Amino acid sequence: MANPTKVPFLDLVTPHKELETELLDVVKKAFSNAGFIGGPMVEGFECDFGAFSHAKFCVGVNSGTDALRFAFMAADVRPGDIIITVPHTFIATTEAISQAGARIAFVDIHERTYTMDPEKLRDYLEKQCEFDAKTGKLIEKASQHRVAGIVPVHLYGQMADMDPIMELAEKYNLFVVEDACQAHGAEYFSKKDNKWKRAGSIGNAAAFSFYPGKNLGACGEGGAVTTNDEAMAARMKMIRDHGQAKKYYHDIEGYNGRLDSIQAGWLSVKLPHLAKWNESRRNLAHRYHELFAEVKDSVVLPVEAPWTKGVYHLYVVRLHDREAFQARLAEAGIGTGIHYPIPLHEQKAYQSLGYKTGDFPVTERVAREIVSLPMFPQMTRAQQDEVVSAVKEFVGAKVAAMR
Ligand SMILES: *Cc1c(COP(=O)(O)O)cnc(C)c1O
Repeated sequence: MANPTKVPFLDLVTPHKELETELLDVVKKAFSNAGFIGGPMVEGFECDFGAFSHAKFCVGVNSGTDALRFAFMAADVRPGDIIITVPHTFIATTEAISQAGARIAFVDIHERTYTMDPEKLRDYLEKQCEFDAKTGKLIEKASQHRVAGIVPVHLYGQMADMDPIMELAEKYNLFVVEDACQAHGAEYFSKKDNKWKRAGSIGNAAAFSFYPGKNLGACGEGGAVTTNDEAMAARMKMIRDHGQAKKYYHDIEGYNGRLDSIQAGWLSVKLPHLAKWNESRRNLAHRYHELFAEVKDSVVLPVEAPWTKGVYHLYVVRLHDREAFQARLAEAGIGTGIHYPIPLHEQKAYQSLGYKTGDFPVTERVAREIVSLPMFPQMTRAQQDEVVSAVKEFVGAKVAAMR
């Protein structure tokens, strides 16, 4: 028999209850002027979210997946071009690459940060590709296709190591699109520029998702691209709106990929609370770290590299016997998740890419051991204590059984 939920994995009810009046006012406003598509609510949100992400421009779109896809298209990927990313991410990252007409190439992640390993990226660029000085293009030797760009994923709200990635991109003339779908407000200390930078302000463009469970979630689907490149922003505005800058004058074929006005209005209500919610996630994460210190031999805790301020979209630990662990926590009424159980290169959908098990050993090992524990800004200390004692009980029983 299922036990009542004591600690949900995620709570999407409380924050909306707290803001109910303001959220309902957005709907009334849209009804009163029938402003359902575009208009001041979308423009206002774009302006505010661009400022929040320290980027000059922000283009609202209908999902994080389309944010990635439109960014690739605006960066001028050509059919058959290669875009490099990691196999340890949500499939939307690679769906967007394929849907932009490009080819997927993977490089492995770093064992402790779970984000793109710049050394593996360097290896791929230096050993598997060659620079054609005549054309200024980087060509993958095996396929003879051009390498066009890199997509570091700021997974779990932790920034990828951007300085070396940007340096390699510059050296080989590649674009960088940050997948910041889990990292609204995360920060990275750039040694090169000697300053903290926000997710969304470093690459040529960055994709954000406002899927309800993200750090900033819409009441439905939503996404945005941020960029400091005005021409790219203008192209993405056209791509999201059937290739038109002026109604019915279509310079290119585009998509129906706009952010709804009501969603933009809701996001504007929630955005002023995001910094506080992120701070709450960070405090909870640091409290988890402290409370788990005594079991850290059995439970691998997330590390926050000194050059990042993570926003803990997820709090992910690693341990053996994951299935038994999840079952035990479920019995105790505690929700958990796995992000993500099957590395992308081992997914059925990507059999045709020709990768095999063993190609990305770090990703494969990590994917077998990770579990995401409850993490949401409104989690109480009492709820967190429930999680911690259930985890310790599981680990303690295992250690005792081994004696
Ligand atoms: C959520 C997510 C996406 C896709 O966003 P949608 O809004 O669901 O399309 C892309 N990449 C990552 C890493 C994500 O977590």
